[in-house]
Amino acid sequence: MRTQIAAANWKMNLTLQQGEALLDAIIAQPHSLNANQQAVFAVPFPYLAMAQQKLAGKQNVFVAAQNCYSKKNGAYTGETSVEMLQSLGIQYVVLGHSERREYFHESNQFLAEKVNICLEYNIRPIFCCGEPLSIREANTQNAFVAKQLEESLYHLSAEQLQQVVIAYEPIWAIGTGKTASSAQAQEMHAFIRSQLAGKYGTAVADSISILYGGSVKAANAVDIFGQPDVDGGLVGGASLVADEFVAIINALKK
Ligand code: PEP
Repeated sequence: MRTQIAAANWKMNLTLQQGEALLDAIIAQPHSLNANQQAVFAVPFPYLAMAQQKLAGKQNVFVAAQNCYSKKNGAYTGETSVEMLQSLGIQYVVLGHSERREYFHESNQFLAEKVNICLEYNIRPIFCCGEPLSIREANTQNAFVAKQLEESLYHLSAEQLQQVVIAYEPIWAIGTGKTASSAQAQEMHAFIRSQLAGKYGTAVADSISILYGGSVKAANAVDIFGQPDVDGGLVGGASLVADEFVAIINALKK
């Protein structure tokens, strides 16, 4: 069975003390992670070391960065390199979140460079894709997402692609309270997998975890995660509430 992942995206929220308290509250609650399940916490850069320390030794629990820069090092004031993340023991980086694409103008080509440098340092990208509302309304979401995958990922070898986690996040469902129906999520996840199969073969496509993101909460997680091609979720708002996120972890497919 593919790895099932509940990934928290704190975005630019919480003070250090609030972040510590949230992780403490989550750790304190009973949650069950099987061998094929993971919980990932994408916390702001200044909290990475704190989260690494707090979660050290916890089975199948990982800390992620929410971004990185595409260059190895040098005169890039304010940026964070993958080598820095690696030196902290970080194993995942969220790339191509729609907020980065929209507010920071990150293109598919720029994201391909970030994917490359992450893989060079053995850090696994959680690569986000997904269409805006106008594209969904025009019913051209498949072509839109296929282009994102093609331009950012298809230069990779099959072995490299297998280090990537894909997160399908329809932009119209992020932070809006509007969730894609489980049928809409399944339809796009199956499409993404079929595209990967066309390029890399069925065995590779079947091994890749595809997460759904967009207003996932405890109340809808079981339904969404229960879909055959949905391998967990990337969760924003609900990951800031301990009870909600623990319930979301526990909603992963067994
Ligand atoms: C996200 O941050 O990737 C996200 C899906 O946010 P929300 O769960 O708040 O919609």
